[in-house]
Amino acid sequence: MTLPRYTRGPVPRSAACALAFATLLASAAPAPAQVPARSADPAVRGIPRSAFPRLVPLAPGVYGYEEIRAPGFTTVSLVVVGDSGVLIADGQGSPSATQRLLDEIRTVTARPVRWYVVGSDHGDHTAGNSVLPPGVTWIVHPNSQRQLQQDAVAADAANARTGSSAAGATPSPPRLVVVPPQAMTGDREQVDVGGRVVEVRFLGRAHTGGDLMVHLPGEKLLFMSEAYLNRVFPAMRSAYPAEWVTVLDRALAMDVTRFVPGHGFIETPRVSREELVAFREALRAVIAEVTRLHARGLSADAAVREADWGSYRDWFLAEQQGPIAVRRVYQALDGSLPRDTR
Ligand SMILES: [Zn+2]
Repeated sequence: MTLPRYTRGPVPRSAACALAFATLLASAAPAPAQVPARSADPAVRGIPRSAFPRLVPLAPGVYGYEEIRAPGFTTVSLVVVGDSGVLIADGQGSPSATQRLLDEIRTVTARPVRWYVVGSDHGDHTAGNSVLPPGVTWIVHPNSQRQLQQDAVAADAANARTGSSAAGATPSPPRLVVVPPQAMTGDREQVDVGGRVVEVRFLGRAHTGGDLMVHLPGEKLLFMSEAYLNRVFPAMRSAYPAEWVTVLDRALAMDVTRFVPGHGFIETPRVSREELVAFREALRAVIAEVTRLHARGLSADAAVREADWGSYRDWFLAEQQGPIAVRRVYQALDGSLPRDTR
């Protein structure tokens, strides 16, 4: 992969002298705009923790919301303000984090939050859903609704266990998984938020199996939730690897100029497309490497040890997500992933 990399560290003395001279010559010219590093790591991009959370204006009344979660990368929500109310796609990972998102929305509009799209059903995007306003209209894919139902049962059981064993100890707060009351019946749903139409799209199974995206045709913008992880190693715990690549091809073929990720930074339109292509290539490379090891007859454990991710080993979370990707692609190759039941 040949995307630019930006090195940090001391400048050699001869280069420093040349740089000083060049600076002297160029002192009358305006300073060139800072180009952000291609990384999901705020430190590499030079952004302090105190800058988060932040609303990133994308178009009039449209914002991305970047908040930092452990282990130090951004989780992105989308906020669309219509004349009749506000639509949110994806929440954050705890009630307090999602409350903070709601508080930030109050700084740009007094209109009520009326629609909530489950882009990803994973906890880092849904565990704060209990603070959403009552009466909010849910837009969720049936696969994600089913997953949230299972999560709610598991959370109830865990809460019951904690409750019964907590005599004398400080009980931890119960985990509350909200199950959306209804799910989409097709692959596309239009929401009239007042003054603009928002399209919710299911382009196929990708990161979770119920991946929803929000398309703003007027703004040529696509919020992709976790189907697009910007400079984050492909996270495949519940993914459908080959179908995910197809989903990205479909997204790239849409009339869209700006692609917004679910993790990693929101980029300028041109860079957002370059990075989505780079992410698709990362997915392809990971699948190809695991397929190579599988064809050699290695066990999944051996493949975890042998896998060579090339330049992707520098992507965020590679060490943690690499072994998970190996096991998931093995499941796919062995035919043990759930079938697409649509
Ligand atoms: Zn996530």
